[in-house]
Amino acid sequence: MSGVIEATASTSVAAPAVAAEVTEAPANENQLTPSEELFQAIKLGADADTIIEKMTVSNPKELLESRDQQGHTLAHWAAKRGEPWLLRFLLDKGASVAAASDDDVGMRPLHWACTEGRMACARLLVDRGADVNVRDKQGCTPLVVAAQWGQADAAAYLIKVGADPRIFDRHDDSALHWAAYKGNVEIVGLLHHLGLPLDDADAYGQTPLHLAALRGNLGVCEYLLVDAATTTKTRLDPVDRNSKRPVDLAIEKNHQHVRRFLDGQRPVCERGLKAFLRDNMSLGACITSCIAGEKARFPWCAMVLNKLLAQTLYVFLFLNAEFSPSSGNSGHGFDVPVWVHASVINLHVVVWASFLLCWLGDPGVIKDTKAEGKLRDAYDAYFDRLVTGERDDDAVPIKLDHSCHIVRPLRSKHCRVSRQCVVGFDHYCPYVGTTVGLQNYRWFYLYCVSFTLAAIQWQCVAISYIKTYTVSYLFYGAMVWFALFILFGLAMVAYHTQLVFSNVTTNEHQNMARYEHFRDSNGIVRNPFDAGVWQNVCDRFLPPRVDDLPVVHHSFADAGAKAPLLAKA
Ligand SMILES: [Zn+2]
Repeated sequence: MSGVIEATASTSVAAPAVAAEVTEAPANENQLTPSEELFQAIKLGADADTIIEKMTVSNPKELLESRDQQGHTLAHWAAKRGEPWLLRFLLDKGASVAAASDDDVGMRPLHWACTEGRMACARLLVDRGADVNVRDKQGCTPLVVAAQWGQADAAAYLIKVGADPRIFDRHDDSALHWAAYKGNVEIVGLLHHLGLPLDDADAYGQTPLHLAALRGNLGVCEYLLVDAATTTKTRLDPVDRNSKRPVDLAIEKNHQHVRRFLDGQRPVCERGLKAFLRDNMSLGACITSCIAGEKARFPWCAMVLNKLLAQTLYVFLFLNAEFSPSSGNSGHGFDVPVWVHASVINLHVVVWASFLLCWLGDPGVIKDTKAEGKLRDAYDAYFDRLVTGERDDDAVPIKLDHSCHIVRPLRSKHCRVSRQCVVGFDHYCPYVGTTVGLQNYRWFYLYCVSFTLAAIQWQCVAISYIKTYTVSYLFYGAMVWFALFILFGLAMVAYHTQLVFSNVTTNEHQNMARYEHFRDSNGIVRNPFDAGVWQNVCDRFLPPRVDDLPVVHHSFADAGAKAPLLAKA
């Protein structure tokens, strides 16, 4: 089953092979025919004057119908390169919008425009009469090709101008099957939003969930079973023609993360307690969660037990020795002033309070806020603007969230662990067991600071204790263990303090170069949110509510170097 699909993938998507030619210079320009020269010029991105000059011949029709060695027309190349002026020029001269490549794939210029997401060219071809449901030799429509290539805008545009999402290719795979197979969560979310059923089976009886499991595309599996569940219930165990369920395919291909996720969707009674513990509490699950940020409970439990252990030792060893009349001399077992003990107790109250506020508090989730409605409207309006072409003029690119179906506000991110959009997304913390974002960052920071101070104080009291009392090796082991937490805590406090002072989140600090709003007009990476240390601290620790945030985007282009945490209208 999958073998056939793999073969389809390699033949119907021909553009990477041809793309390599673009960089090849002609061996000897003198030997090229006028048609070859023209192809060469277009592939190398020659300017308008050069191309128009080469087209000024007695019989331009012959040139327009000519093919390169692989059987593609000039219109194919103009569409692929995203040169609307050139494509318009060729079409005005009489080039065909419907000419298929003369190879074993047979794509049209519209297919090629969609592989690269060349929206202006796709729009031009459709305006000039190109059939949006045209199929290549594999039965792939431009929509299927857009899904294969992960071009969300192209897919949305095609559906808006009438592409039929239910047209299947030769193997009965729809655009949604292809998106699931290729692991394009965005396209899966978009096609679902635009009304495609999630449970359709292809010629092999496989649903999109089968294909995602087969390829180990966890994000797609998560979307199909978790994100989409608010509107559509995807079946967890459909069987294909070989009586295989998605989880069977994941096990066969050794995609353990997918297997774990699919099993995790079953109730504990169905999975068995042993499997539940293995997937949530084992060292393997802990390591996975630390590395990949998955939702295992081990790090959270370890942190809670750790706090309880330190506090139990404090009460039953230190306080008992200090205040028990039978211990030590004159009622004072070892030399620690009472105010130290009092401050330790206060500090532990702060540790627990900040931990609970961070863990249980709202990190800044957009779902179910008033802002969500506006962001959803903006999401739908975006696709309407794709049809008119208005959006080509956007100075600042709009970020769409195809999982939540909203326009993503500046500095927000879809947390892949908690599966929701969080404003001021910082990171997912497995130790606190929640996403850290705009609203709970202050509690997270306070937790780091108080927890580190508590660990230092514990260590100081313990040193005092061992000077007076004989202790076992177990106690020395505990001291070394808690000393490691001091190092970890100090590193966290130092890192987050510099983040607070410069007003960037952990996510932004690690991925700054990838965000366009962190680039100035010269393309240099800079932080537009740095408004001086004091203002930065206020921005991070006294954030506005999510509903008070304006739903606008800004960057260096329109906000200047001094901007607040989130754009104010
Ligand atoms: Zn989201």
